[in-house]
Amino acid sequence: TALIRLDDVTLSYKGRTGDVTALAHTSIEVARGEFAAVVGPSGCGKSTLMKLVTGLIRPTQGAVSVEGKPVNGPVKLAGMAFQHANMLPWRSVLDNVMLPLEIVEPHRSRYRREKAAYRERALDLLGVVGLRDFADRYPWEMSGGMQQRASLCRALIHEPALLMLDEPFAALDAFTREELWVVLRDLWQRLGFTVILVTHDLREAAFLADTIHVMSARPGRVVETRRVEFPRPRP
Ligand code: ADP
Ligand code: ADP
Repeated sequence: TALIRLDDVTLSYKGRTGDVTALAHTSIEVARGEFAAVVGPSGCGKSTLMKLVTGLIRPTQGAVSVEGKPVNGPVKLAGMAFQHANMLPWRSVLDNVMLPLEIVEPHRSRYRREKAAYRERALDLLGVVGLRDFADRYPWEMSGGMQQRASLCRALIHEPALLMLDEPFAALDAFTREELWVVLRDLWQRLGFTVILVTHDLREAAFLADTIHVMSARPGRVVETRRVEFPRPRP
């Protein structure tokens, strides 16, 4: 069964000069464990789709559900990463990766009790992305690519069922970007989460995703959904 389902969703933003329909009559499904990519030009509603799936906004019409339940509020099972890593510069890489646990954990005492285990989990993740030796360094000591590796670890530290990625590699040079594709695919294959990747890079979508949803603008909608059939190298 689908982890995520959008059923004939329309989203209009209220504007001073009238409503803007950012997404019109869009239906998609993402299966558990699937790697889905959403591609399309700027302004086609990709960010709007992300906000609907994570429950930050509600559809004007239609329904969004996660694990068969309607979304009505922020979806806690999602980890997120964006174009910029947004690490806190006064915290070490390790402490940045552990930040979501610190924030989400409702009981400080539980966080303190589990801290050693959480720390091990963070170090394991940093190991997978090749940053174990940089755990005690600071974000500003690292390259953009290294910071994005760390931001993937931060997004995965609470073991989310769903990873939402909004143009995560767009600010990287071409060489570093392709290195990060391999890092992300490696994480996905080891940990088995579901991914929705928003990108305007078709090569990136084809390299990583099982399914590509193609969007067009004005109004934004999914015009084609395509399974990636050709054999891809697996690490
Ligand atoms: P993308 O991420 O693909 O660039 P967005 O989802 O950000 O697209 O935007 C889709 C459309 O909705 C655009 O025309 C944008 O200008 C409009 N839009 C986005 N957010 C708002 C908002 N808060 N209020 C009004 N219009 C918005
Ligand atoms: P908490 O909410 O867990 O108390 P904070 O975000 O307040 O965490 O701070 C975490 C650490 O970062 C603390 O050691 C704090 O002193 C330091 N810190 C917070 N804000 C700043 C800042 N603007 N510049 C430098 N250090 C900061």
